[in-house]
Amino acid sequence: MARRGSVGGRCTVVMVVCVGVLLGCLASQAYAVDTIFVGGAVVTMEGEGDVFEALAVTDGRIAAIGAEAEIRGLRVSGTKVVDLAGGALLPGLIEAHAHPLVTAVLGQMADVSGFTHESRAAVMGTLRAAAEETWVGDWILAYGWDPVMVPDLSPLTLAELDEIAPERPMLVLTQMLHQAYINTAGYEEVGISKTTPPPGGGGEFQKDASGELNGVLYEVGAIDAILGRLPEPPTGALELLLSLQQAKYAVAGYTTVGVLGARARNDNPIPLYARLADAGSAPVRSMVYALPAQLETEIAEAPAHRRFALKGVKLYVDGSPYTGGAAFADPYRDTALTRERMGLVAGHRGHVMYEHDALRDEVRRHHAAGRQIAVHVQGEVAIDLTLDVFDEVLAEVPRDDHRHRLEHNALITGAQLARAKRLGLTPSFFIDHIYFYGASLPDIVGQTRAARFMPLGSARRAGHRASIHTDNPATPIGPFRALRTAVTRTTRDGNTVLGPEERVSTYEGLEALTIDAAWQMFEDEERGSLRVGKVADFVVLSRNPLDVPADDLDEIEVVETWIDGARVRTSPWTWNNATLAVRVAASMARSFLLGE
Ligand SMILES: [Zn+2]
Repeated sequence: MARRGSVGGRCTVVMVVCVGVLLGCLASQAYAVDTIFVGGAVVTMEGEGDVFEALAVTDGRIAAIGAEAEIRGLRVSGTKVVDLAGGALLPGLIEAHAHPLVTAVLGQMADVSGFTHESRAAVMGTLRAAAEETWVGDWILAYGWDPVMVPDLSPLTLAELDEIAPERPMLVLTQMLHQAYINTAGYEEVGISKTTPPPGGGGEFQKDASGELNGVLYEVGAIDAILGRLPEPPTGALELLLSLQQAKYAVAGYTTVGVLGARARNDNPIPLYARLADAGSAPVRSMVYALPAQLETEIAEAPAHRRFALKGVKLYVDGSPYTGGAAFADPYRDTALTRERMGLVAGHRGHVMYEHDALRDEVRRHHAAGRQIAVHVQGEVAIDLTLDVFDEVLAEVPRDDHRHRLEHNALITGAQLARAKRLGLTPSFFIDHIYFYGASLPDIVGQTRAARFMPLGSARRAGHRASIHTDNPATPIGPFRALRTAVTRTTRDGNTVLGPEERVSTYEGLEALTIDAAWQMFEDEERGSLRVGKVADFVVLSRNPLDVPADDLDEIEVVETWIDGARVRTSPWTWNNATLAVRVAASMARSFLLGE
């Protein structure tokens, strides 16, 4: 039979069995095939070389995979035929780690990012414009301050912020969300003074040498303390924003999104994800890892649609490499970039946010409760602490196949990867650091450490099933940019290949976006590859990635996305969104007219 790609004996057997099983079903009962996909490559991700001609869907699940003639033969009246038009059908992509609601909310703020600004003057211009635009009395909010990507971006001072916004509260969030700047009116609005105790969670309301607040909110604990005190948005607004945001992931080819710490505000946004899934129209599935405090809330699962699941808990052990928060074993380099733009002192090392015993108790609590644990770790010190703690807890309370996760892993070493493998921990890599920050990394950590940043190749050689992620909003949605980066390790300026030995093949990169990401979420029995009986979650692509030169991988276009055997509607004009919009308008009218 004709097939694309290489043909392996095993695949032929698999296919014959698939079709055989299906024919058996057809013989025994009325078996209506809803949809068939033909005219392109069906890339199953069940094994390299498993590429077929056609696929059939019945009742939201894959019914058969095989040669076009055989699959066409399964048609009954009413079977829909989707022509792949020379493109490819793959399992729906899986974003291993993102923050959809944070992205949705931050999308409403003034954008001061390095994706759209090239100089400090330009960034300051945007901040000034933002201060003029918003209504008097409102917060002025900006997101994306990025001293690594914007070449001359020295730290924002409290005096500058007070000059831009002398009366109204103003908050500027850094791109990686591990630091923020606030003005004097902002401190007053949320009731923070120099005598306010630290916010917890490793956060700091930073002060200058004379003990006065200096406008810097350091780390997640301090930022979340402020976000939680911002005015409430109108009823339904967050839900609408989240729904619109989820459609953007679907447009990019994702069918499942890992929500690693549902941050945004102090109140718990997880029920929002569950409600949207319950409405049945959620454009992507949400696999949520809650912050510890959020586990107290009763959360209704949505089993009918399976577009929401509470998977586990998210912990932060260190911070971002670009705010000095990553707990590296060796100091940051002392360069103009680290000193003048990132504001670090010579010899700076990031610190871990937990004492050993405190982290052990936290991990033991969640592990003993049977939860999957995902831990934010970037530097070797944070990773060592985390591995030590898991070593202890697993010795006390053994559990097979726990798949506890290590998130980001900038400088994880070969020895740490081997130890993580022995302990059953699984890494997810923030591969975009190479693309967006790779050109600056030698100035932050030096050439040698830069070359081993986000070592996906080493992880695979150590036997790991690793995933890759964009940590959106930390970097923009872009699965094929992430794939290209994993495969080429090329930086955005195109001039450097950073750590060529960490490159992986296109097939391996796709595994990190599909089946291996599914495995990390305990979803591999249902999705992540194309196999008879699995759920019909697909992405239709303009080209088969396995036939595309590595440098062009980010030019692949997503034609459409399918969940549960149905094409995902990515237009904002869905019935559910319209209903939410009406609720928002009603709530705004009430507060305007009645002052509620
Ligand atoms: Zn994250």
